[in-house]
Amino acid sequence: MFDQFDADADAILEEQIAICEIPAPTGQEATRATYVANALTALGLRVHRDQVGNVIARHEYASDHPIVLSTHLDTVFGPEQCVTVARPGQHNPYREGETVPAGEYHAPGISDAAAGLAAVLAIARALQGSPVSSQALYVATVGEEGRGDLRGARHFFDSELGRSARAFITIDHSDPAAIVNSGIGSRRYNVQYRSRGGHSWGHFGRYNPAFALAAAADRLADIRLPRSPRTTYNVGVVQGGETVNAIPELAEMDIDLRSESAGQLERLDQELQQIIRYGHQREQGRRSGGAQEPIVSKIGDRPAGVTPAESDLVQAAKRALEAEQLRPRLIAASTDANAAIAAGVPAVAMSWGGRSDNQHSVREWFDPTDRSRSLRVITRLLLDVTQRTAAQHSSLD
Ligand SMILES: [Zn+2]
Repeated sequence: MFDQFDADADAILEEQIAICEIPAPTGQEATRATYVANALTALGLRVHRDQVGNVIARHEYASDHPIVLSTHLDTVFGPEQCVTVARPGQHNPYREGETVPAGEYHAPGISDAAAGLAAVLAIARALQGSPVSSQALYVATVGEEGRGDLRGARHFFDSELGRSARAFITIDHSDPAAIVNSGIGSRRYNVQYRSRGGHSWGHFGRYNPAFALAAAADRLADIRLPRSPRTTYNVGVVQGGETVNAIPELAEMDIDLRSESAGQLERLDQELQQIIRYGHQREQGRRSGGAQEPIVSKIGDRPAGVTPAESDLVQAAKRALEAEQLRPRLIAASTDANAAIAAGVPAVAMSWGGRSDNQHSVREWFDPTDRSRSLRVITRLLLDVTQRTAAQHSSLD
């Protein structure tokens, strides 16, 4: 079972490339979902798609309390983004004038989460026929990224099947030695400043939404945050206005707040709400007329939460890494595991292995060196959790 990943290394890489080249923007995952569903069906699993589009595959004689192995289908990129994979030695269309170095594969989404999907399929394949396969449930979720706001995972954990899971393992990060056991909470807002608008010369003096936005963004940028619990903010999208010589009718921004701590996140959120008012009032104080009330819409709300370091699942993940000579580190991130933890299911996010960087950017790349080791880690983890929980079940009888 463990040797298979090395033997299949080329096929796993080609599958990852094929998956990457099927565009899957958040909300438009169906084509990629079909590919994944077909691959799981070919393994003899029973595959279905739930109401939101998650792909769910289980063994014919599946456990009622499965261990879920998962990753997400969607990418942060839009439908217009080229996702053709540039191979070693080829001209790199994502970096002007550069050639792809030996061992590297470049394309947006090549790791996040094409590498995760390739890993789930490779592990499902390796486990076919083993006792573990009836304990495992394979899930490829929609809507993990950005504005998807964990839509697929939330839906899954609202279902009876999701809530009955013994554990949830999502393959969704790049660091081979890291266990994500802490879910970073996030709140996301779209903030719109609005005005009657007008001519930049003729109506000069009217409330200008761009200045209100700038005042608020500047004040947000002044906030100092603790290193621990790590807490961050970002203004990610800014847009609005019609033309250079008009007072905009609308200026809007998307803001992302994150924290390892639910309390810290709540405080930062309250501060942001005041800052949004501040931007409005400051611009109102400087101009006369034209102002409209800002509109604040919540576009994301991911719960913070932790699977404790001493829990069975995290301990098993540590043993699996140590068995492959990796020194485990516990880290925090925002993944589908947040939704599991919020539903009371122990959850971790594990690495897709190899080397990779620049996720969420067109400069993303992946190098499959040592990927097999990370696939063995996850397989060991599944075996370990299955055996332990099987022992627990029989000792309860
Ligand atoms: Zn991801």
